[in-house]
Amino acid sequence: MNTDYDIIIIGGGPAGLTAGMYGARANLKTLSIEKYLPGGQIANTAEVEDYPGFEHILGSELAQRFESHARKFGLEIVSDNVEEIFKDGEHFVVKAAEKTYTSKTVILATGGSPNLLKVPGELEYAGKGVSYCAICDGAFFKEQVIVVVGGGDAAVEEGIFLTKYGSKVYLIHRRDKLRAQKVIQDRAFRNPKLEIIWDSAVESINGENKVTHVMLKNLKTGVTSRLDCGAVFVFIGFVPNSKITREPLNLDPNGYILTDENMQTSVPGLFACGDVRHQLVRQVTNAVGDATTAAMAASKYIEELEDKHAAKSAAKT
Ligand code: NAP
Repeated sequence: MNTDYDIIIIGGGPAGLTAGMYGARANLKTLSIEKYLPGGQIANTAEVEDYPGFEHILGSELAQRFESHARKFGLEIVSDNVEEIFKDGEHFVVKAAEKTYTSKTVILATGGSPNLLKVPGELEYAGKGVSYCAICDGAFFKEQVIVVVGGGDAAVEEGIFLTKYGSKVYLIHRRDKLRAQKVIQDRAFRNPKLEIIWDSAVESINGENKVTHVMLKNLKTGVTSRLDCGAVFVFIGFVPNSKITREPLNLDPNGYILTDENMQTSVPGLFACGDVRHQLVRQVTNAVGDATTAAMAASKYIEELEDKHAAKSAAKT
């Protein structure tokens, strides 16, 4: 079976780059297609302190290390926007905006996109005070009041990071308990520049050319109030990018891809790893572990395919 590549990986975050490193290291012709720059979400994460071996590393630096390590083993990386993936007989066709590629296997490491708050003013002030990336935009709001929305790991960690810039950071959470890990919560509670506004929702984001205030509603009392601020950072989870293949994939009710323990999806030869896959936690550590399994499983799949073809041609002669 002649194809352009043995493995095509869609996505160039930690999962995609790790799968790429293992694929290339196994001497398989391996390509990673990434829409933006390699690194994925981690490249926009301020600081990482829970990746073993690195007590403290900038997300952007960890992303660069993943990339250069994978390239060293021969991973090819292209920037293109994959529009469709489908199976043609035994091989896969990956249609991207610039080019169409073929491969024996595909690994989906497409991650997810941030959820929107869906309140008036959010889209109007995007880039004018509304942001989804603290490391990208935090420095624009030095000595200003910053609002962070959400109660998970991302909101609390990025809220703490934003206290480096803001005069004050208000974390708006819709419940009276954070979802974030205890160790991260404790750090937030100890930070004098961070204040949590419990049981509250942002009803609207308002301004004049740029954000000037939000309107809050206390969900227990129904009381609304105005909070003056220069920026609103939204960290309320994300949607998995799983709707990329024409093949019918088994998904969980939230759209995450279901796989077996070898990262194999419901389509033979199509694997998934990282944040797009259904799992208990979405950490870099388990993304890279699952990506290793996906690459090894893809390699085994290719071997079996080649053995099958060899047996067929032997039977003919
Ligand atoms: P998440 O864990 O799903 O948390 C989302 C938060 O946003 C929850 O607190 C949720 O409130 C709130 N929320 C959801 N929809 C909302 C809405 N419409 N309005 C207001 N609030 C809303 O998402 P995440 O924090 O992005 O984390 C995603 C994954 O990445 C998690 O598995 C997390 O562990 C991982 N992560 C890990 C680290 C780390 O360990 N260093 C850092 C970042 C992310 P409720 O709590 O009420 O549901």
